[in-house]
Amino acid sequence: MRAQPKASHFIGGVYVEDKDGAPIDVIFSATGEVIAQLHAATPAIIDKALDAAKAAQMEWAAMTGTERGRILRRAADIMRDRNHDLSVLETLDTGKPYQETSVADATSGADALEYFGGLAGSLTGEHIPLANGDFVYTRREALGVCVGIGAWNYPTQIACWKAAPALACGNTSVFKPSEMTPLSALKVAEILIEAGAPAGVFNVVQGYGEVGAALVTDPRVAKVSLTGSVPTGKKVYAAAAAEMKHVTMELGGKSPMIVFDDANVENAVSGAILGNFYSSGQVCSNGTRVFVQKGIKEAFLTRLTERLEGAVIGDPLDPTTSFGPMISEGQLNIVMNYIEKGKEEGARLVHGGERIKGDGFFLKPTVFADVTDDMTIAREEIFGPVMSVLDFDTEEEVMARANDTEFGLAAGVFTNDLTRAHRVVAGFEAGTCYINTYNDAPVEAPFGGTKASGVGRENSKAAIEHYSELKTVYVRLSELEAPF
Ligand code: NAD
Repeated sequence: MRAQPKASHFIGGVYVEDKDGAPIDVIFSATGEVIAQLHAATPAIIDKALDAAKAAQMEWAAMTGTERGRILRRAADIMRDRNHDLSVLETLDTGKPYQETSVADATSGADALEYFGGLAGSLTGEHIPLANGDFVYTRREALGVCVGIGAWNYPTQIACWKAAPALACGNTSVFKPSEMTPLSALKVAEILIEAGAPAGVFNVVQGYGEVGAALVTDPRVAKVSLTGSVPTGKKVYAAAAAEMKHVTMELGGKSPMIVFDDANVENAVSGAILGNFYSSGQVCSNGTRVFVQKGIKEAFLTRLTERLEGAVIGDPLDPTTSFGPMISEGQLNIVMNYIEKGKEEGARLVHGGERIKGDGFFLKPTVFADVTDDMTIAREEIFGPVMSVLDFDTEEEVMARANDTEFGLAAGVFTNDLTRAHRVVAGFEAGTCYINTYNDAPVEAPFGGTKASGVGRENSKAAIEHYSELKTVYVRLSELEAPF
């Protein structure tokens, strides 16, 4: 199976290659097969991409928002028309089941292009009246060239969640996908050109961390938006701060999900499955610490393990498959090490815990019960299909334990007590909270983390604040007085 693109990079409206760049093998994680071979960007390629973005920016920003928005909405339509092909490519790139990619990747990217395309024409400043007929007006202006750097779990979605608000505000962009999943962002670039975006408005360069680091420190860049781990986020944030650049940081988590005795057990189990095993557990906002109140614990674990038997593990291209492989052998080994640590530290393995034999990087959905707060599996982000179930007695106790983490990306609660539900979410130290649901991420709602999990918000009108800035203009109509 091959998914070789025309070339590694997309710059100034065309595919570009430079074989001097370090090789990048793209591996279909269900079989271990190399499906494409690309090259990381050389300094010359990085330079070319930033030049292209810089050169295109003034003209792009000078168009009306309505014109820019029309192009983004046209791109959304093209993405939806090609959803099947784009979903197959996403499945090859990530190993995620087609059952997921066909409803959560290109479709989510198209939603972002459509939503921000719709907003583009209404992005304005305001008029502020002062005394004597004087006034102030503000102009909402683009930042300039925005760099996007992506993780490997949602390559199309991440490219669009960063590109759509950036472009709507009149910025141009250079996007570096994860080296593990370089294919889909090239399709986003092709589609934007087809939809009428001027050359250079959205460029894609491939590469490892060094390419990302070179982009972040370049003086042509005004803003950096990273989706990645906390350690990478700290480096990128520090590098951007040195030049006072704008940042958005979408980082990792170890989010709590609290299930009270009065919760609907089936819904709570659905939430725990969605919040731990979708995309084989490779989702930043996953609720991997599932606190279950003692009275409901056995019922919860019984239904959870019964329902996990229904997971269809296998070829991710088969639409009946509901659970795919890990992204890479390396990530599989990281997760297996955590599973070993869980066993060593005394957690009770109630489901899975082993690799599935074969060439692909498959692992069974894994659940540990009797997990305690100090165990490694309850403290560190695993980024794989490993759920930790912890017991609790009281709301006060569980709130303190839920918030006792450096992370603050997401948090969820399952209860039928309306008052308690709102009290609990008000107490969560997390950017994105869920009541009787988990892991929804529609474009209309802000998404992002607090504490070490991030800075800024993606999606919704809130993202506009992070891709534009206000210029304040004072206008005096009355006589101007001075002391002498
Ligand atoms: P990662 O931090 O290893 O890499 C992320 C990206 O940063 C990659 O493109 C990588 O090449 C690049 N990079 C690495 N070092 C860099 C540097 N010094 N300067 C600039 N760029 C650099 O993360 P990953 O393993 O690809 O993804 C998994 C992580 O991403 C998890 O922690 C997960 O929680 C997080 N994530 C967060 C969100 C969110 O929205 N909050 C979404 C998806 C994934």
